[in-house]
Amino acid sequence: MPILATLLLGLHTMPTLADPVVLPFAGGKKAAFSLEFDDSMVSQIKNVLPLLAEYKFPATFYINPGRNDYNAEVWEKQVPAAGHELADHTLHHGDTVGAEQGEKEIGSVAKIIEKVYGGPRLTVFGTPGGVKWEIPKDDFERILKENRLVFPGRMDFYQDGQGDITRFPQTALEKGIWRQLGFHGVGGQWLSTSVENLTLVLKFLDAHRDQIWVAPTGTVWKYMREREALHHISAVPHGKEITLTPSFDQTKLKPFELYNEPLTIQVPVPVSWKGARYSVDGRKHWKTATKTAIGMLIEVAPQVRSVIVERA
Ligand SMILES: [Zn+2]
Repeated sequence: MPILATLLLGLHTMPTLADPVVLPFAGGKKAAFSLEFDDSMVSQIKNVLPLLAEYKFPATFYINPGRNDYNAEVWEKQVPAAGHELADHTLHHGDTVGAEQGEKEIGSVAKIIEKVYGGPRLTVFGTPGGVKWEIPKDDFERILKENRLVFPGRMDFYQDGQGDITRFPQTALEKGIWRQLGFHGVGGQWLSTSVENLTLVLKFLDAHRDQIWVAPTGTVWKYMREREALHHISAVPHGKEITLTPSFDQTKLKPFELYNEPLTIQVPVPVSWKGARYSVDGRKHWKTATKTAIGMLIEVAPQVRSVIVERA
């Protein structure tokens, strides 16, 4: 193209840019890791909550509000206030047979958790282990759906004597994947892990904070479902800004409004841009894009209709 034509075009258009992409994990991290604690145990109150506060990591607690030693003040107030996630692990962690008992054991806990967080939400469910569990499949699925429960499943559990605990986050990082690691007692009680071993895994995660996204199970699970449901993001440059329009397959995210975990989108911008800011659904609230080696990163929830990105 002659130089003059290029210059003229350059007055009102920008060169074609690559499409924006959603990154595998929030913040553009290489891997994700979720710490999970089962059975709302007293040793976790004593030994886990202070450590998580010290290292500033949010975790997932699978609670049983029907247990004799259940402490509602801690589990339903302090734990959510500290940014942790409560997951449904049934009321009593006992034998559960038939739809009616299943309804009571599962549904009552989901209702407690929604009340704690002040409204409808997607709540993680984890099946209790070591008990008789006989709920017909159709009933089980109906109970989950009616209570807005999601079922990510479990991956690894750890207790002392099972080798180097840091291999779990190490594997997540090496493979660029999400791993969940579950615990029972910590520094006591059953299937126990020592405080030293838990500290080792927290130290590893702390040392790799820039590479590993440490987040509750439900948070990572939602992020991954949303990412899978994203068809594409169109990017239309005009003048000094770019308008992004994400489009999701909403049939994969039901109910859509509860899939509200912001996705990290990498936005290609002209090389001349030293920084960028963005605003969702209008021009009122501008946020600064995070500049990284892989481009400008912005955070967009699935409910957002359009995003304006401009040079800053
Ligand atoms: Zn359990």
